[in-house]
Amino acid sequence: MKRKLRRRISPESMSLATRAIHGRKLFPYQGTVSTPIAQTSTYRFASSHDAVRYAQGDPDVYVYTRYHNPTVREAEERLALMMNAERALLFSSGMAAISSAVFSLVGAGDEIISTPALYGGTYRFFRDILPHYNITVKYVQPDSLADMRDLVTRNTKLVYFETPTNPTLGLVDIAKVVAETRRAEKRVGARITIMIDNTFASIVNQDPFSLGVDVIMESGTKYLGGHSDIMAGVIAGKKKFVAAVHTQLKYFGGCADPFAAYLMVRSLKTFELRVHRQNENALALAKFLRRHPKVTRVLYPGLSSHPQHLIAKKQMNGFGGMVTIEVAGGVKSAVKVCDSLNVALNAMSLGGTETLVSIPVYSSHVNMSRGELKSHGVTPGMIRISVGVEGIEDLRRDFQQALDRI
Ligand SMILES: *Cc1c(COP(=O)(O)O)cnc(C)c1O
Repeated sequence: MKRKLRRRISPESMSLATRAIHGRKLFPYQGTVSTPIAQTSTYRFASSHDAVRYAQGDPDVYVYTRYHNPTVREAEERLALMMNAERALLFSSGMAAISSAVFSLVGAGDEIISTPALYGGTYRFFRDILPHYNITVKYVQPDSLADMRDLVTRNTKLVYFETPTNPTLGLVDIAKVVAETRRAEKRVGARITIMIDNTFASIVNQDPFSLGVDVIMESGTKYLGGHSDIMAGVIAGKKKFVAAVHTQLKYFGGCADPFAAYLMVRSLKTFELRVHRQNENALALAKFLRRHPKVTRVLYPGLSSHPQHLIAKKQMNGFGGMVTIEVAGGVKSAVKVCDSLNVALNAMSLGGTETLVSIPVYSSHVNMSRGELKSHGVTPGMIRISVGVEGIEDLRRDFQQALDRI
């Protein structure tokens, strides 16, 4: 009997979901459907010849888990495949990914152009740590980041931003920033890397590479991990760049743990499903909340009332799971609502299967002056909602009863 040959379909032609479930080599491990955890710090050489191969730079020789690990590599290969990146690197956290990537791009005397609308950890890293290395950060408001041309000098090495922003869900026009950066680059005769923190949208909803961005960072703790149970971070980009970041990873030590990498691979399989459901729930909840008399504002890029809704439609495939509302009566009312919710949990972080709420003036924007809050667009009555995958009717009922207590 003639054996039928299986025809191989290129993974690049497959959907994001299929890439996540199978990775590059469909069924990479004999026998097991799920990915084994290589819970080891070191590796036994078959012979000293392996050590020589490693010394000569062969990437297929494993020597030590801070450098390489098969489970971590499996997560990285799937992420690269899903992100259409030449290579992706997994870290122990989003901040490990950000700091390692930034330090591989800038050194003493260099300049970064960014916006103040950054994740708190990144903002403080830029403000408090980079000056020790004589690295300057110049800030532009996110909606006018493309007007950065006068700030670019020969020392500008990096343009760094997030969109949508936290917690006001403002947008940066990605294509416009890319075009302006390339123009400025020519004018000063320097090469500038454009890096985005894509955590809020996630790659399901926003593909910055297709818009000309060089480097994508995502906190794997959020939508990619998606179950509020791991810490992880991802850097994706060109091979040469990611290799340079890998060198930083080895010295700063922010390597991913094999078990977290295993959970990441597991989570990737439902990543698209979860995010689609979160998009749907968030839009439905945003529309519902807009009608409640105690809700004075609803910020969600998917609402036509959002001032940058057209930009959202242009650069996003889905509008995400983050919704921010403002309630009448300031922070007292916000506290009352958060303490009255039952289905939604009062907790920091975002991107998990469960709906979480937090009050920006008590979390991401704690201890900021009135002036700083104003420039960030944050008001005391704001509640940030990370919408989960629960039944939408349960969420509506929960918010209804909590808001009715104001
Ligand atoms: C959480 C978060 C980070 C940092 O990620 P960690 O995994 O907590 O280190 C960076 N950027 C954004 C937008 C985040 O939400």
